[in-house]
Amino acid sequence: MQSNSNQLQADNGRQAEPYKIKMVEPIRLISRAERERALTEAGYNPFSLKSEDVYIDLLTDSGTGAMSDKQWAALMMGDEAYAGSRSFYKVKSAVQDIFGYEYAIPTHQGRGAEQVLFPHLIKYKGQYVLGNMHFDTTMAHIELNGGVPLNFVVEEAFDTNLDVPFKGNFDLEKMDAFIETHGRESIAFILVTITCNSAGGQPVSMANMRGAKEIADKYGIPLLFDAARYAENAYFIQQREPGYADKSIPEIVRETFNLGAAFTMSAKKDAIVNMGGLIGIKHDIELYQAASATCVPQEGYVTYGGLSGRDMEALAAGLYEGLDADYLASRIGQVEYLGNQLREWGIPIQWPVGGHAVFVDAKKFLPHIPAEQFPAQALCNELYLEAGVRAVEVGSLLLGRDPETGQQRAAGAEFTRLTIPRRVYTNRHMDVVVQALVRIWERRDTVRGLEFTYEPEVLRHFLCRMQPVE
Ligand SMILES: *Cc1c(COP(=O)(O)O)cnc(C)c1O
Repeated sequence: MQSNSNQLQADNGRQAEPYKIKMVEPIRLISRAERERALTEAGYNPFSLKSEDVYIDLLTDSGTGAMSDKQWAALMMGDEAYAGSRSFYKVKSAVQDIFGYEYAIPTHQGRGAEQVLFPHLIKYKGQYVLGNMHFDTTMAHIELNGGVPLNFVVEEAFDTNLDVPFKGNFDLEKMDAFIETHGRESIAFILVTITCNSAGGQPVSMANMRGAKEIADKYGIPLLFDAARYAENAYFIQQREPGYADKSIPEIVRETFNLGAAFTMSAKKDAIVNMGGLIGIKHDIELYQAASATCVPQEGYVTYGGLSGRDMEALAAGLYEGLDADYLASRIGQVEYLGNQLREWGIPIQWPVGGHAVFVDAKKFLPHIPAEQFPAQALCNELYLEAGVRAVEVGSLLLGRDPETGQQRAAGAEFTRLTIPRRVYTNRHMDVVVQALVRIWERRDTVRGLEFTYEPEVLRHFLCRMQPVE
């Protein structure tokens, strides 16, 4: 694997943005006193901040990307027919062309795809869904359908310093042994999340996905993809996996999806739309029919699934734009730029950086704050107070409690995620984030932990309210 600094030099400007800015949206930094008031009113939960009180918004890369002129132009071509929309057929044809899957069902976003598809895959209560590491809404939809989500990500994923290229990989032996012990019937399906969001936006290698597919075939278990970052994962494979340097991104995407039977996708990530999701099914017509029947009452008729015709136009265009190699080099290059700066200042981050975010290791940043006082959330709040930058917690707060016992689940890591929207911010914005984190780093022992004043039962991190521990 090439080191990142070598790659930066060798790239000769390839990582510069392959676009210029045609439209701008003003942002501003409110005063420190105003930020303090805003955060108190938000119950120390950045999700509850008003976006106009945020200067640089790194909460998520979901739906926050900048659409291209082509996508905006495509909006005008939307066919708003209730049934059989021309725009739907563009999406369907893009899914066939890019992924090689016969059936496509649009949904309002990724979780819409999950709620439509999962009931047809989880056959009885208590069936396991095995993944490298499930995303939070994915976990919720597995549980809502009576399933039990289990993670089999490699141990290395939790060692934030270990420089290995594919930290999103499955521990294949462990998964195989689990299926052997519990029996094939107890497994609903295997879900490969690319890239592995919850493990730090880390990629999964082709060899590992092939290994997961072999296990799936051995037991006759379906293998599916949670495909939000289908293109970023392919880019990492091209850059890091032996034998893939000369393959194109579309070729690698095709080879990846050839391993699966179906996918759910949040199109708000690599497909660079503000709203949208997709189900793709390779050729199982019965699964397609079953999912269609669920889609109609839940998301809408199967040729729109909760999306306007114009949204489907932008989605069809975005599915292709996400595959552009120069765009991917500049996007992932920007994430590396942020990560490299932080590392130079000695700030502990997940290394190597992922595709869509830099994950600051809050356990190491704030070792005096115990997990039950949510160190990564405390760091998010401090970053907002320091510079108006909004980040998000990926740790104990996100993981929540065990639904059976009510006990806090033990998180492998406490991350403050700096998530980079696509084609939105410049590297000067990244510099502001670095400076703010350096200032906090220098006075880190003054940061206090948090406790709940309101804790919802499900997906609590979105709506909870907190206060600093005395
Ligand atoms: C975003 C995301 C989802 C959920 O998609 P939404 O569009 O937010 O509903 C599911 N899985 C992964 C890996 C994601 O990143």
